[in-house]
Amino acid sequence: MADVLVVAEVAEGKLKKTTHSAITFAQKAAATIGGTFSILVIGDGAGKAAAEAQGFGAAKILVVEDASLKNYLAERYAPTVAAIGKNYGVVVGTASAYGKDLLPRVAARLGAGYASDITEVIADGGALKYKRPMFAGNAFGIASISTPIQVVSVRQSAFAAAEPTGGQSPVETVAYAGPSKAAERVEFVSFDQVKSARPELTEARVVVSGGRALKEKFNQVLDPLADALGAAVGASRAACDAGYAPSDLQVGQTGKIVAPQLYFAIGISGAIQHLAGMKGSKVIVAINKDADAPIFQVADYGLVADLFTTVPELVKGIQAAKG
Ligand code: FAD
Repeated sequence: MADVLVVAEVAEGKLKKTTHSAITFAQKAAATIGGTFSILVIGDGAGKAAAEAQGFGAAKILVVEDASLKNYLAERYAPTVAAIGKNYGVVVGTASAYGKDLLPRVAARLGAGYASDITEVIADGGALKYKRPMFAGNAFGIASISTPIQVVSVRQSAFAAAEPTGGQSPVETVAYAGPSKAAERVEFVSFDQVKSARPELTEARVVVSGGRALKEKFNQVLDPLADALGAAVGASRAACDAGYAPSDLQVGQTGKIVAPQLYFAIGISGAIQHLAGMKGSKVIVAINKDADAPIFQVADYGLVADLFTTVPELVKGIQAAKG
C-alpha cells in the first residue's frame, strides 16, 4: 500500500471543518502504512484554500481549479478525483453530504473497496482495518479492504479536528480531467444556503434538540435556550415531518450525526433512529414528562417534567447565572 490522499471540502475559499477530521485519519493511516499523505483541494476557491491546507504537514497539496467546477456536481468532480486517486493506496474524505455523494463514485471508478462512515481506523500490522457502525449504530463491524486502492469516508464526530502544525507543504497544480458522461444529463440549478447566526449543527459544542411534543411552539420554546447557550438547534424526525422544524435540522440515522459536548433532548422519546445520531454526545440532558421514555436510558441528566414550564425556567436560570 502506498500513500493517503485526503479529498478536501472547500467553501468560499476555505477548508470546511469536515476536512480536518479526514486529515486526522490520514495522519494515523499514513503512519501505520509507512507512507505520506497529500491533500487534494478541488473546486471554486481551491487555490485560496490550498494555502490553508499547507499547514497540516502533508507531503503536497494538489490543486484543481476550472471554470466548470464552480458549482459542485459529483459528475464533474469524480473523474478528476479518481484520476488523481489512482496514484494512492487510500483515498479519504468525510461522510458529509459532499463525501457521501462524491466518494462512492470515486470508488466505483477506481474499482476500489469502500468503507463508509468509519468511526475508527485500526492498525493491523502495516495494514488498516476500519470500525464502522451497522444497524443504526446498534452494532459495530470491522472492515478490511482487499482491493489495491481503498476508499474511506470518516464520521466527522469520531475524529478530532487536526490542528495546523505550521508547515508549508508544496503546492502542485493538476489539470481538470473533464466531466463524466453522466454530467451531460445533470444540470446545476441553484444552491440555496440557509444562513444562520447559530453554529453549524454538526460542529456545535452545544445542541438543543426538540421533538414532536413541542408542536407549533418549537422555535418559541427552543430558541431562547439555544440563544442563552450559544447552541445549535436540532430536531427529531417526527418534529421535522410534522413541519415544526426544517428537515436540515434532523438528527439521527437518516439525519445528521452530532457529538457535541452537551446535547439537550427536549420532548424527544429516544427512538433508536434518533439515538443513532446523538448518542456519541459527551453529556446528554433529557427533559420528558414520561419517566419511562427510552431517552432516559442514555441520558446523563434526566428531568421528568413538562417542557413548556421547565425550559423557560431553565432559560431564566441560565440568564441569571450569566448576570
Ligand atoms: P415521539 O416519539 O412522539 O415522542 C415525543 C416525546 O415527547 C414523548 O416521549 C413524550 O413523552 C414527550 N412529551 C410529550 N409532551 C411533553 C411535554 N409537554 N413535556 C415533556 N415531554 C413531553 N427519528 C429521528 O429523530 N431521526 C432520524 O434520523 C430518524 N430516522 C428514521 C429512519 C427510519 C427508517 C425510521 C423507520 C424511523 C426514523 N426516525 C428517526 C423516527 C423515529 O423512529 C421516531 O419516530 C422519532 O424519533 C420520534 O420523534 P419524537 O421523539 O420527537 O416523537
